[in-house]
Amino acid sequence: MAEKETAQKSEKKVRGKKMAYQSVKGMHDTLPEDQPLWEKVRLATRHIGEFYNFLRIDTPILESADIFERGLGEGTDVVEKEMFVVKTKGGDKLVLRPEFTTAIMRAYYQHGLSQYGQPVKLYYEGPVFRYEQPQAGRFRQFHQIGFEILGAESDPIYDTQAILGAYRLIEELKLKGVTVHINSIGCHKCRAAYIKKLEAHYKKNAQKTCKECKIRIANNPLRVLDCKDEKCQLIKADAPIILDYLDTECKTHFKKVLEYLDEVKIPYHIDSYLVRGLDYYNRTVFEFFAEGFDYAIGGGGRYDYLSETLKLGKLSAVGSALGVERVIEVLKASGRPVAAKGASKVFLVHMGDEAKKRGLSLIEEFRKAGMRVNESFGKDSLKSQLRVADKDQAHLALILGQKEVFEESIIIRDMEIGTQENVPLTRIVEEVKKRLK
Ligand code: AMP
Repeated sequence: MAEKETAQKSEKKVRGKKMAYQSVKGMHDTLPEDQPLWEKVRLATRHIGEFYNFLRIDTPILESADIFERGLGEGTDVVEKEMFVVKTKGGDKLVLRPEFTTAIMRAYYQHGLSQYGQPVKLYYEGPVFRYEQPQAGRFRQFHQIGFEILGAESDPIYDTQAILGAYRLIEELKLKGVTVHINSIGCHKCRAAYIKKLEAHYKKNAQKTCKECKIRIANNPLRVLDCKDEKCQLIKADAPIILDYLDTECKTHFKKVLEYLDEVKIPYHIDSYLVRGLDYYNRTVFEFFAEGFDYAIGGGGRYDYLSETLKLGKLSAVGSALGVERVIEVLKASGRPVAAKGASKVFLVHMGDEAKKRGLSLIEEFRKAGMRVNESFGKDSLKSQLRVADKDQAHLALILGQKEVFEESIIIRDMEIGTQENVPLTRIVEEVKKRLK
């Protein structure tokens, strides 16, 4: 840990001075050493997506602000405080997407995806942006992977399939101890009755309610259940439970989702106070938690009202999303580091201009044979090139000087034992192959 901190500090300083340029607050570089982990997550996503017949979709990073303002709801934290707004020269108000679901709904209608066999199952992966206060596991640019099922009846089997996609991905990545926290927030009808009770409960406890929740109870009452304030937690402890207010249809729907989860052996925990921060959800809502982490690594739910809110039509849909940075954090903590892809095992050392030129085409011969060769063409001395080869942990150095070019030969140096051998250039690829077996 101390070592990591020191490395971070020195990263910010160049020769004792603080670097003038830093990445933007809450936005991070993914360095080469972390790429194998990211690649592993992307590969697993493709694998799971394809297995369950989800089709890949990509949408632009910039979208019209109004679809999120409408879709997510004016009173939500994301819309009120967290969107990165961009004004174009033409005066359009755009935003860096704060999530994918709404954009995917737009794409569904824009491209007539109702023409595909329904439901359409789509998966995605990419950066999203929210202007939040950065802290552990919370960034301003982060990445999401998600699975969306659009255009079927509001059938509980699809809720389970949306959960299944994300859960199997978590399993494929070998994250241990992940549980699904699940709840139903009903439909407009039954939720209204519940909200009245909830408001009454919080009004009764108004003296003890935090400042924010006083506003929430007026603007977006369900959100009081998300409050982390200690006093509000106490009020929540004996707040009414939405499951007690579900109508028969919503109750049956929820029961079926749980039965289907049992069928595919996905562990869940009914969390009666789980509500999600966006207006478009109805019925099933869920989040994924990994043991030892207090933030959710993913979440999702049914959003049968989103298309109507956007005035696009009527379309049932359900989806799940995982936060890639958080998944990777859990992956790292599980002590299963992914080995970085080995650097090239072969390193070409040149001496002189002729050798440098011949080296360029020699590498192409290796490329045709499917073998990677690294070089340091910008350095001239033998010693400094061998130093790079050493850092690269190359097994073989191929040394090409003026004399060798003239004689059409090359020296193979075994970097571990230090032996050297001269071989004809025409045989170099097969000689290297033989030695690396
Ligand atoms: P949400 O759309 O808020 O339900 O987010 C889905 C998932 O994205 C969460 O469960 C997190 O894993 C991840 N996530 C959300 N917000 C952030 C953030 N600010 N920084 C990093 N990951 C996030």
